[in-house]
This record gives sequence, structure tokens and C-alpha cells, in this order.
Amino acid sequence: MVSIPAIRSKQLFIGGQWVDPLSGKSFATVNPATEETIAELASGDAHDIDRAVTAARKAFEGPWSKMAASERSKLLWKIADLLEKKIDEFALLETLDAGKPISESKAVDMAECLSVLRFYAGLPQTISGSTLPSQGPAFVYTLREPLGVVGAITPWNFPLLLSIWKIAPALAAGNTVVHKPASLTPLTALKFAEICQEAGLPEGVLNVVTGPGSTAGQALVTHPGVDKIAFTGETSTGKSIARDAAETLKKLSLELGGKSPNIVFADADLDAAARGAVNGIFYNAGEVCCAGSRLLVEESVHDALLEKIQGRLKKFTVGDPLDPKTRMGPLISKDHLEKVEGYVRSGTQEGAKLVCGGARPGLPKGWFFTPTMFSGVAPTMKIAREEIFGPVLAAIPFKDGPDAVAKGNDTIYGLSAAVWTRDVKKAHQVARALRAGTVWVNTYNMFDATAPFGGYKQSGFGRELGREALDLYTQLKTVWVDLS
Ligand code: NAD
Repeated sequence: MVSIPAIRSKQLFIGGQWVDPLSGKSFATVNPATEETIAELASGDAHDIDRAVTAARKAFEGPWSKMAASERSKLLWKIADLLEKKIDEFALLETLDAGKPISESKAVDMAECLSVLRFYAGLPQTISGSTLPSQGPAFVYTLREPLGVVGAITPWNFPLLLSIWKIAPALAAGNTVVHKPASLTPLTALKFAEICQEAGLPEGVLNVVTGPGSTAGQALVTHPGVDKIAFTGETSTGKSIARDAAETLKKLSLELGGKSPNIVFADADLDAAARGAVNGIFYNAGEVCCAGSRLLVEESVHDALLEKIQGRLKKFTVGDPLDPKTRMGPLISKDHLEKVEGYVRSGTQEGAKLVCGGARPGLPKGWFFTPTMFSGVAPTMKIAREEIFGPVLAAIPFKDGPDAVAKGNDTIYGLSAAVWTRDVKKAHQVARALRAGTVWVNTYNMFDATAPFGGYKQSGFGRELGREALDLYTQLKTVWVDLS
């Protein structure tokens, strides 16, 4: 029996205070590996969002706007230090809430949270405008200013990491934030608010309102006091947010779904490509926006590659996410498990061949599913077109480079892609031809705080990470001075 780290789960964090939700209502967050309730959470609604936005506006116009950029750097660095000190507690909470293997929660999610916080801690003093060589007797310059109040709405698959992707650049640029975490995984967002308070972040600069997307989330999107919404989630939710945000013409960045092609040419290192295919789709149980869910394989090596993948899957452990040897934990919820099972049924019904997996592993509790691979998948099948967001790989053969690119781009999405080949020229040609925000060459799932990430097509717009993300949290003001 593990002991759950102490957390102020029943309250909202608004204006630097832990407060009860006005409705007095609560909801449970459940451990997907055991199906047991971990904690009861405050169910925030439109009234709580209004309180949080008011607090964020007050902080933006008050102490936060007067604070020197160097002080913002120090605070972000201090928050990172506190997170590092409590990294085990954070990793444990993330694993209990999201079901991800403990080794990954710590070495990947939390480690990346630290590097993203520290990357943006280094940037506040570099945010500047420029002087312009205008014609005529005038001095013209630009100021790069924060937007104001940012609403951050985040999903359940990388709960804290994707929150930090938004909160760190937003604060670095001098904005204040109201965060609405995913209802299925809100614990680390609340714990993060605790360390921000401990670090001395002025009250109202970060506010956290837990609650349903349809009430708290939508209220944040429609609130006239919010200047920007930074959203990560499903493409369908992104569309509804874009419609709701139109009324107040909020700035938006949308990180949405994907159906990424992982393209393996016959001249690739097939062992490395098999490793990359397994990592690409089964990492985090396939609950990854950039999952390499379509494995496009050159015909001549199709069978050999699939055999190598199957060999790797024999050693792939599915089970208790608290066991350091586990490679894949449960899916996030019963509903989601059933949705994934529905896709597996549709694959079989549409005539694809189930090579392995396709069933629950028979564990007594938890929403586990086995790593699943289909071959003989036609690009028209549902499993080749829709985002499954689970451990289901669809292998599709291709003839040559142009066929691979055409099939790779045959999707409404454009989040990421990968190409495996030893031919340098081909690698660069295919990388250019693919319509995706990120292309990996001979690797998969690599991220860095410095490298922008985001979607083409219906995978969204705007970029997170990198210096580029600061552009989404700032706006330019042009100042003219008459010198005549
Ligand atoms: P989701 O769209 O169901 O929910 C995301 C967040 O939006 C949650 O906090 C939810 O409560 C809130 N929400 C729901 N309806 C809302 C509304 N009408 N108004 C405002 N907020 C609302 O997504 P999810 O199921 O939590 O996450 C999985 C999805 O996220 C997948 O489609 C995945 O591809 C995508 N994703 C994308 C990226 C990326 O960087 N592109 C990263 C991770 C996940």
C-alpha cells in the first residue's frame, strides 16, 4: 500500500488562497490501475472562474507588472528547485492519477518539467522590442508586452508537463494564469500551486480551478477578462473552444490530436526502426498526441520489421505502474478502454489482420490493454484515419518514396512524423515533403525545451516550447516619437 502525498485537493487556489468552490460540489479522481478513488476534488464552476480571473487581472495590473524581469527569472528558477526537491512526491502523484509507469513519471515527465521551467527562467530579460529605421523625422520603436490573463486548459496524458509548457512561458513573459487542469488528472496541478506559493509567487499570478471542461473550462474560454487561451486536447474540443473564443476574439494556441506516420524505408537499420516503432506507439500506452500510430513500411521489409516488433513486444511488461520494471500501465479510464476496444473491433471488421494484442491482459483490476498491432491496414480504414489514443499500431505497406509521402500526408492531422533510412538525401527530402510540425529522422518522441512543438492542419496552431512560444504570450506595441 503506497501512501498518497499530502495535497490540498478539496480546494481551489485563487488569489494566493486555498478556497472552497462556491457550489460546494466535489468530484473524485480515480487511480486507473486499481479503480480506487485517490481524492475528492473541488468542482469549480463559472463563479469560481470569475473569481480566479478577477484575481489574475488584479495581480497582472498590480505587483506582477511592476516586477523586474530578473525577479521573474529568479521565481521560476526557485519553483524549479522546489519541484526538484519534491520530485519523488510529484512523480508518485502523477503515476497514481494518470497510470503512467513510475520510472517515466520521474525520469521523463518531471525531469522535462524542470528543464522547461529552467529554460524559460533564463528568458525574461531577453524579451525586447526593437528600434526601427523609419523614414522621416521620427523615432520609432517596438515594445514586446505580455498579453494579460492567460487561461491554460490541459489534458490528462502528460498532466503536469503540458501544464508547465504553458505556465512557464506565460509567466516568463509577464502574464498571469488561470489553470484548468484535466478532471481525470488534477493532482499535480494543485501540488504545483503549493510550491509556487512556497516559492513566493505573488498572489493571483497563478490560479488553479479544478472542475469539468463543460462548465469551468467553457467559462474560462468565454470570460471577457481572459486575453488568451492556451489549450491542449482533442481536435473536436479545440474546434468548440475556437468557436466559443470567437465571441471575445481571444488569442488562441491549440495543441490538438494526431495520427502520425512513422515511415520505415527498406535501407533503414531495422532493429533501430523496430525499437522506434514500439516507443512511438506504446510509450505512455499510446496516449500521446504525437504517437506513431501509422507504421508505413516499404513492402520489401514489411514482414521482417513486423517480426522484429513482435519480438520486442514479447518482453514488453504491462502491469502495475508503481513497479519500476513496468513499461506500460493502464489506460486512463474505463470509457477510454472501451473506446480503444471499439477501434480494435472495427479494425477486424474492416478486414485488417490482428497480429498481436487486441485484448485485456486479465489483471484483476485496472483498465489495462495489451500492445496491439494490425497488418494489412488500408489507408481508408477507421484505424488508419482516426486518433485512437491507445496502444494500437496500424501497419500499412508502401511502394516507394512518393507513395510513402502521399500516404503519410493522407490525414486531417499534421502533428508529427518520422522517417527511418540510411540515405541522408532521402531523409531530408521526405522530412521536407511531410506536412507535420515535427519530423524525427531515425528516432521518435524526442523533445527539448528549446525545440518548438505544434501542429500543421487540424493538429492545431501556435507552437509550444522554444523561444517561439514567447511570441504566443506577448504582443507588440509600436511607439512613434515626432522628431521634426
Ligand atoms: P479533451 O479535449 O477531452 O480535454 C482537454 C481539456 O479541455 C480538459 O481539461 C477538459 O476538461 C477541457 N475541456 C473539455 N471540453 C471543454 C470545453 N468545451 N471548453 C473548455 N475546456 C474544455 O482532451 P483529453 O482527452 O484530456 O486529451 C487527449 C487529447 O489531447 C488527444 O486528442 C490528444 O491528441 C490531445 N493532445 C494533444 C497534444 C499536443 O501537443 N498537440 C498533447 C497532448 C494531448
